Amino acid sequence: MRIVSILENQNIDKRIAITPEIAKKYIALGFQITLVEKYGEHLGFKDSDYKELGVEISTDETQILSKANIIIQLGLLSDENLSNLKENQTLIGVFNPYNNKEKIENLSKKNINVFSLEMLPRITRAQSMDILSSQANLAGYKTVIESFANFEKAIPMMMTAAGTIPAAKVLVVGAGVAGLQAIATAKRMGAIVFATDVRMASKEQVESLGGKFLTVEGSENLETEGGYAKEASEEFKKKQEDLLAETLKKIDIVICTALIPGKKAPLIIKGSMIDNMQSGSVIYDLAAVQGGNAEFTEVDKVVVKNGVKIMGETNILNKLPVSASNLYSKNVFNFVSNLYDKENNKININLEDEIIEKTLIK
Ligand code: NAD
Repeated sequence: MRIVSILENQNIDKRIAITPEIAKKYIALGFQITLVEKYGEHLGFKDSDYKELGVEISTDETQILSKANIIIQLGLLSDENLSNLKENQTLIGVFNPYNNKEKIENLSKKNINVFSLEMLPRITRAQSMDILSSQANLAGYKTVIESFANFEKAIPMMMTAAGTIPAAKVLVVGAGVAGLQAIATAKRMGAIVFATDVRMASKEQVESLGGKFLTVEGSENLETEGGYAKEASEEFKKKQEDLLAETLKKIDIVICTALIPGKKAPLIIKGSMIDNMQSGSVIYDLAAVQGGNAEFTEVDKVVVKNGVKIMGETNILNKLPVSASNLYSKNVFNFVSNLYDKENNKININLEDEIIEKTLIK
């Protein structure tokens, strides 16, 4: 069986789906691999690194795709490449099935198996395949680095002969995977960290990382059975606004990560709150692409309001594409290993396996 991957949309996403380390693992499992020329060159992985492992390198994208059994990508292929796919091929990646419904339906009609990995169930057995967690974890770390780099004061408390510099105060809004990593990173760098979330389960997690949890008093636990956030009521939003308005007066850096699956990001940091923040403060809005948690957020811009820098970008993972590719490649390898029937050398679409059933898009 042949696995292939090509490069597309490199200026939007620098990540790759098969690193040399993972190519070696696929080959050990019995797969053949073909990659497009210069596949990992921009990340420091040379064609010769892959060739030494037995990977075939080719310049002809159409030919590469035509001989594939499994195609592993990050996002969906171009329309032209999609139209060339054939019956029984398997396409694996992150395809945003709600926004690409028609394209995916067309592929299903041609009997192409499309697996979209953001649909993986958040169950223990799927943890090693969980691309959302691996990438959110890195994003949470990098938001802290980016916001600290834009903050013009020191982060840890420093007692010097010339006087004491106070520790910076960080507020993390949304304590999911990205938020928890942001808390851990900010703590490691010496900040005093506060966090808030609508899911009460996150209080213990925040506190275990040394953060102070800000509870919206008298509020219910807004958590679905699947562990995700529910949309907050108007009453909750008002209480959260009062709590944060007061807190933000003392905060230097805000990291926004709040999301509700399938919805626009909730607007949490309002303009009136920003007006009361100290000049020189920084807001990094990781939810920028989903509409932003802060007012005035503009994707890929640094907006300055009342001396507060508000920033957010299309793809923060482009700032650590090697780490992101390493983890993504490993996640997909674990997914393919679960899908592959080695004895019969075929893909086994066992719909009784929740992992396969949930990710197969029809
Ligand atoms: P996410 O990216 O969907 O959302 C980020 C965070 O924003 C969440 O914690 C959410 O509760 C919070 N949020 C939403 N609205 C908010 C508001 N108005 N104010 C403050 N916070 C708000 O979340 P995620 O990182 O994907 O995590 C979702 C859940 O999945 C969590 O319970 C997490 O523990 C769980 N999870 C489980 C596994 C596993 O078991 N394998 C793996 C990863 C995550």
